[in-house]
Amino acid sequence: MRRSLVIGNWKMHGTRASNRELITGILAGLDANKNCDAVVCVPFTAIPELSDAVSGTSLALGSQNVANADQGAYTGEISASMLAEYGCGYAIVGHSERRQLYGETNQLVAARYEHAIKGDITPVLCIGETDEQREQGKTFDVIVEQLSAVIDHSDIESLSKAVIAYEPVWAIGTGKTATPNQAQEVHAFIRKQIAARDSALAETVQILYGGSVKPDNAADLFGKDDIDGGLIGGASLQAESFLGIINAA
Ligand code: PEP
Repeated sequence: MRRSLVIGNWKMHGTRASNRELITGILAGLDANKNCDAVVCVPFTAIPELSDAVSGTSLALGSQNVANADQGAYTGEISASMLAEYGCGYAIVGHSERRQLYGETNQLVAARYEHAIKGDITPVLCIGETDEQREQGKTFDVIVEQLSAVIDHSDIESLSKAVIAYEPVWAIGTGKTATPNQAQEVHAFIRKQIAARDSALAETVQILYGGSVKPDNAADLFGKDDIDGGLIGGASLQAESFLGIINAA
């Protein structure tokens, strides 16, 4: 039985004051729910303060990226060991915004994923097709390519220390959610790809859906067999909607 997991991605939002307010609101409503683990992936600068705020609570902290090296001349990067020092347990890797706006390739994503695992951080590997790729019938090819890049670079066993997020690019921040059946079809495909290499592992890997999840569509999505929770952007920026999604999981 896989536990549910809901991860908020705050992206580049918030001030110190608004972060404090948001985390206080989330923590105030969190304890009532024991069926679902919850994580917030916050901007790097918010990590030290929020690390103190979540200490001793059931809310875990994550970053929105992680370096593809442990230390050295990598201007602008933050390593897994730096994140771990501040109590970060998760790091998003390969978010479509990183792939599209900053040119992150499958190879770079695979190296970031590898270094997260080496540094005891759980990578949240984002994979998913664009609108155009879906229309061209390439959804499954894209999934295979993005997933294989990571498995070939690390190994299949590494997935026991990772989380996968299926995020169709056309559904991110657009209000256009994949239908539960559309999402389930891809989630089942991802699990089948893993099962082809390790069937026991495939049953345990958490596969989250991301793309315009809101409190009113979360239950239908999370009710599908292979959807183990969600990666939430916009709706994670308000305690009430984030908690609503956690409660649906
Ligand atoms: C995301 O950024 O990963 C995401 C799913 O965003 P949203 O929920 O706003 O679509």
